[in-house]
Amino acid sequence: MPSYELSRCIVCSTAEADELLSAEDAKAEIEELWEYHQRRLDPAVPPNSLMDRVAFSQRAPLRLVRCCECGLVYRNPVERPMELDAIYREEGPDDAVLRALHETQRPAYDAQAARLTEIFGRRGSGIEVGSYVGAFLTAARDAGWQFAGVDVNAETNAFTRSLGFQVHDGTIESLEAERHVDVVAIWNCLDQLSDPAGAVRAARRHLSDGGMLAVRVPNGACYAAFRPLLRGPFAAVAREWLAQNNLLGFPYRYGFTPTAITRLVERNGMRVEAVFGDVLVPIADRWTKRWAALEERLVKRVIAAGARISTGDKPLAPWFEVYARVRETDSPSVG
Ligand SMILES: [Zn+2]
Repeated sequence: MPSYELSRCIVCSTAEADELLSAEDAKAEIEELWEYHQRRLDPAVPPNSLMDRVAFSQRAPLRLVRCCECGLVYRNPVERPMELDAIYREEGPDDAVLRALHETQRPAYDAQAARLTEIFGRRGSGIEVGSYVGAFLTAARDAGWQFAGVDVNAETNAFTRSLGFQVHDGTIESLEAERHVDVVAIWNCLDQLSDPAGAVRAARRHLSDGGMLAVRVPNGACYAAFRPLLRGPFAAVAREWLAQNNLLGFPYRYGFTPTAITRLVERNGMRVEAVFGDVLVPIADRWTKRWAALEERLVKRVIAAGARISTGDKPLAPWFEVYARVRETDSPSVG
């Protein structure tokens, strides 16, 4: 059994927060998630292929709260960091499953690599934190970038190296200090780390002058907006919005908001250049029933449109990306 401790906002350090999801709500929401996916999947689906859909790496939250200052959604109480590390090191699906994940994720990363090139203004070198099955590394290579990976999971790293990439077993904090790159990218991963603030600080140390940090995270503001609607006349819409984007049951440690990320990067001598609201990479695969795959495509098109027009903390955007550049004249104010 994991052990838990009380937590506070990792961005503002304040303990002032509102309860968003009680322990009881959490259980009900997980059941709803299982029901949702069971209807949509071929009954013959092997357990391994449930990875990243219902069998998430993270345990379900006990209770979720939302910071009154920056809107960060976080677990309180939270698993102790040691336990979390153990979750990531234990896993090891076989190569066929990793290859299938790679293939499923690849198309969305092509769009992301193109977006990065456009916002950064040119191609260059980079490090991806949480490079996982190498879908982004491949997309970036094909787009003319030179990216290397960093990941705590040695088994998936072996698979990713087999695709021809340099991958460091460990964390951004454990990467050799003299390594400097144009871009540090943290896609779909900052929210799973035990110390995201430390990772952002470490990322900044590896950036060259004019370098850029690019992050993609689940939007706590979206979860906070749709979660209360699960009990009411708009329940079906809210369920679809959250479930299609892996927000139902909230399998993350943190739900950032654009406000929270902005505070984190500014504190580390960077300035936000772009915020982009988006949907999750496609989750349908060969085990998804045809109607469900079609529905996912249609629903995600609608949600993506909503994500792009939504302003402020982008409550209609289930996921968002922030691109922040190192300020020329500043060194990090917090070491
Ligand atoms: Zn906060």
